[in-house]
Amino acid sequence: MIETDVCIVGAGPGGVATALKLSYLGIPSVLIDKATFPRDKVCGDAISGKVTTLLNRLDPDILERFNQQSMQIDVWGIRFVAPNGKELDIPFQPNYVRNASSAPGYVARRYDFDNFLVQEVRRRDNIQFWEGLAVEQYTQTERGWLISGNKGALEVEARMLIVADGAHSAFSRKVAGLERDFRHHAGAVRAYYANVESLSKDNFIELHFINSITPGYFWIFPLPGGQANVGLGMRSDILRKRKVNLRKALSEVIEEHPVLRERFQNAQLIGEVKGYGLPLGSRRQPLSGNHYMLVGDAGHLIDPLTGEGIGNAFYSGFIAAEQLQQCLLHNDFSANFLKAYDQRVSRVLGSEMRLSYRLQKMLAYPFLVNLLANIIAGNRRIVALLSGMYNDFTLREQLAKPWFWVKMFLRR
Ligand SMILES: Cc1cc2nc3c(=O)[nH]c(=O)nc-3n(C[C@H](O)[C@H](O)[C@H](O)COP(=O)(O)OP(=O)(O)OC[C@H]3O[C@@H](n4cnc5c(N)ncnc54)[C@H](O)[C@@H]3O)c2cc1C
Repeated sequence: MIETDVCIVGAGPGGVATALKLSYLGIPSVLIDKATFPRDKVCGDAISGKVTTLLNRLDPDILERFNQQSMQIDVWGIRFVAPNGKELDIPFQPNYVRNASSAPGYVARRYDFDNFLVQEVRRRDNIQFWEGLAVEQYTQTERGWLISGNKGALEVEARMLIVADGAHSAFSRKVAGLERDFRHHAGAVRAYYANVESLSKDNFIELHFINSITPGYFWIFPLPGGQANVGLGMRSDILRKRKVNLRKALSEVIEEHPVLRERFQNAQLIGEVKGYGLPLGSRRQPLSGNHYMLVGDAGHLIDPLTGEGIGNAFYSGFIAAEQLQQCLLHNDFSANFLKAYDQRVSRVLGSEMRLSYRLQKMLAYPFLVNLLANIIAGNRRIVALLSGMYNDFTLREQLAKPWFWVKMFLRR
């Protein structure tokens, strides 16, 4: 039996971010994961600037160590391909000069990236890390929570429980009551390929909007060594309604799409095609209760447009750690006190989620996406403007406003 102030279940990005932030705040924690690292996690493997910004804020040496790795590729923008085939290359910065150690984004296999994060955990004396131990039961006690697993071999009593065990979190569903609403959930599959042709020279990640899978998309994200993470995702209610088999849909795109077929003709699949769920943050749900906080996918915090969840898992982990510091200071772990956590997560991520949801709905209309692609294609001024939107939220908000597009059309 271990007694601790805080026990974190799950050592993915959300759990590790919480443990590291607590560690730097001088607060010891117990971190448990059922897997033994390195381990795989089904993902597109794209790491946004949110993650590197937060790592740097925590400790620039971590970012320095990240930059010394060879697992990641530096990414400089996004190539959007509309259903009509129009390609739009929108760089993350309007006039960029490539420098791998200060790239605005990266792609790294989660097998490697999560292991890198766990190595950072191992460097910290005040994080007690247990791997290969699956938590099976949570019992509320007077002091907080009794967390047990591995058929009784593991018992931890904690004043605060941080639930960061991912998209299939049993605690989140059964105890915290977060429902799986298929309109706010997506399914996706990913595969690794070698020798996909015509990858972008500046490692732009590719999002292909294809009629048969709207409002989802097919992606190609470049990896080191000429490999790529390739996948396809759709909202779960639409998947169910259309009875889509995602693995089949992925191979149909690769084998039958007139352009992509050519690019995959010499490509080799590495390993298996794997699928997983994405609980989307398009609906606000409670993230805390008596003596617990939900972090990352366990709190349904994935961006409903892009499917980005690593950065949001990091943000929620950092906020949870700061909230816990307040709980310890005031000796208050009550549901009422913890509402401040929900409020802060909503302040930081809420507007972005709401905008992404509006844009996701727009994507359901391929003719609209084609129309916008026609307006943007070949217009350097609009491309430069859109480039600024990655970092400027007020500008990004314009994307969901019809008047903005009318102005763009008139000014072409
Ligand atoms: C196909 C797909 C593509 C995606 N692409 C991207 C992308 O390109 N970029 C991006 O930012 N996001 C992407 N996401 C989302 C991203 O993968 C998640 O948002 C992110 O992994 C969330 O981190 P997390 O720490 O909350 O959960 P996870 O990464 O799922 O980590 C949870 C951890 O909890 C552990 N665990 C689970 N149950 C237990 C238990 N009972 N006891 C102990 N430990 C347990 C697991 O072993 C795991 O290590 C994608 C998701 C999918 C499915």
